[in-house]
Amino acid sequence: MTFESLGLHASIIKALTESGYTAPTGVQAQAIPAAIEGRDMMVSSQTGSGKTAAFMLPALHKFASEGDQPQTGRTPNQEAQSARSRGDRPRFKPAQPKMLVLTPTRELALQVTTSTDKYGAFMKRVKAVSILGGMPYPKQMQLLAKNPEILVATPGRLIDHMESGKIDFSQLQILVLDEADRMLDMGFIDDIEKIVAATPEGRQTMLFSATLDGMVGNMAKRITKDALIIQIASSATKHENIKQCIHFVDDLSHKNRMLDHLLRDETLDQAVVFTATKRDADTIADRLNIAGFAAAALHGDMHQGARNRTLDGLRRGQIRVLVATDVAARGIDVPGITHVVNYDLPKFPEDYVHRIGRTGRAGRNGIAVSLVNHAESMNVKRIERFIKQLIPVEVIEGYEPKRSASTSRPNHKPGGWKPGDNRNSKPGQRTFSKPNAPRKDGSSFNKGPRTGDAGATRRPFGER
Ligand code: AMP
Repeated sequence: MTFESLGLHASIIKALTESGYTAPTGVQAQAIPAAIEGRDMMVSSQTGSGKTAAFMLPALHKFASEGDQPQTGRTPNQEAQSARSRGDRPRFKPAQPKMLVLTPTRELALQVTTSTDKYGAFMKRVKAVSILGGMPYPKQMQLLAKNPEILVATPGRLIDHMESGKIDFSQLQILVLDEADRMLDMGFIDDIEKIVAATPEGRQTMLFSATLDGMVGNMAKRITKDALIIQIASSATKHENIKQCIHFVDDLSHKNRMLDHLLRDETLDQAVVFTATKRDADTIADRLNIAGFAAAALHGDMHQGARNRTLDGLRRGQIRVLVATDVAARGIDVPGITHVVNYDLPKFPEDYVHRIGRTGRAGRNGIAVSLVNHAESMNVKRIERFIKQLIPVEVIEGYEPKRSASTSRPNHKPGGWKPGDNRNSKPGQRTFSKPNAPRKDGSSFNKGPRTGDAGATRRPFGER
């Protein structure tokens, strides 16, 4: 299948060719034709599947095709201009976007905006802007004054602008909820309901989520009409290009020595190290810098400017090791990331999938290593149940844990993986025959106090 055969506008095909895309991904092949027809849809697909283009290309196609028609009526900008020429007092006009994309995090919103700019590079006029918590209000007012066709926003900040009359959704044609499951996890349900209620009934709604089960499925049914359901490969078949393994560690000092060793792997280009807390992210980044690694922290306590600078440094290759918390690292798409290290295990099994998805981007191979305490075996089991794979336990010569791994993981024989012999090798996986067990505790992984980015209701810290 080709992008041409999907009937996309010539200006978009040109942008895709320039971006080096030769064929649509699975989710794109299924979603784009239906979206062009104007259908609502509920799509279950993972990050890295090409889902951004799956919703953005048909939207851009619609706007490009409208742009080809002779224009009737005047745009708000044209009206404002003629009001000025009539000498009327300038009046603030709320932005009237045609499309709204809601995302759980600032990073994902910026990613979507960047992709939109890329896909729309040859269109006559299409402006996409990000409306994000942490960004100065005057800057956002400037962006909204341009009356962009496409708004990409995190829910909290968007509500602020809606309530102060800066945005009018009466002209909205397309609503996208990206990573909807994650937005609900983060406690955005009320904000989402409020935003949806402010949009026209006749809109097209597209919802993307890792899962369509439970609460997210119920919400999806409420806000879509006669939606096409698209299920792209489950998490079990994902990430086959990523070698996953576990190293058992005895204590913190063993863990730190192991981290140091892993980061010296000569096949490592760039790495993301995940920690449970913002404080640990800072401390470990400092420690790694002292040890001679070009490291930086990324977490929700940092100002947006600092977060953007860090991500920019990562993209440019100036930062080799990013030490990050879950919320902050979501949506990072840097092809040079060869390794992900779970310094701490994630609180939620689904975060494991998002974490390891930071490597193995754009068809490359990647390595995902988890440093695990013997007491955390239950948490590993939950992850394995979620991904429907066993993660092999590996032992590195000279870094063996005092306690044998087989006492913690009777099913596993430690392998002899050494840093370097990891390319293209698939972990010896055993697929669980039982379906994914429901999480009775509402997803909570650790019952202890939460110290990471997300609060008890998974509200992101400082999102507004
Ligand atoms: P996403 O799932 O939207 O985050 O996309 C994951 C990565 O795949 C991004 O780097 C995209 O630029 C890339 N991508 C999306 N669609 C295609 C395609 N059809 N061909 C090649 N790369 C793609």
